[in-house]
Amino acid sequence: MDFGFAPIKTRAINYDKNDDRIIHYVLSHDASFNVCLSCGSCTATCIAGSLTNFNIRKMNTLLRRGEPEGLEIEVNKCMLCGKCHLVCPRGINTRNVIMLIKKAISEMKK
Ligand code: SF4
Ligand code: SF4
Repeated sequence: MDFGFAPIKTRAINYDKNDDRIIHYVLSHDASFNVCLSCGSCTATCIAGSLTNFNIRKMNTLLRRGEPEGLEIEVNKCMLCGKCHLVCPRGINTRNVIMLIKKAISEMKK
């Protein structure tokens, strides 16, 4: 019988080892993203989020963690409608942030 305990993969995030190139690229082109307060208004109003499992808050987390692998899949679900920008209390152009993420990912592939 297969029974017992096994070591699990650590859930700790090592920010020194993660790739922060995309977040630096985004902030250098749109510094307004620095004032995001993670209120979730963009997530609540997102059209893509109501039709797919896209979650702009998850995208934000992956971006700030420096985990580009999952990030590319997430941003490609966005339809670039711009609705999230209209409801952001901080006036962050979230649509532009998504465009910048896509641009940074494509430049990293060159
Ligand atoms: S609505 Fe604006 S402030 Fe709120 S989580 Fe989205 S980007 Fe951040
Ligand atoms: S631009 Fe993208 S993230 Fe913003 S509401 Fe539209 S589909 Fe959602």
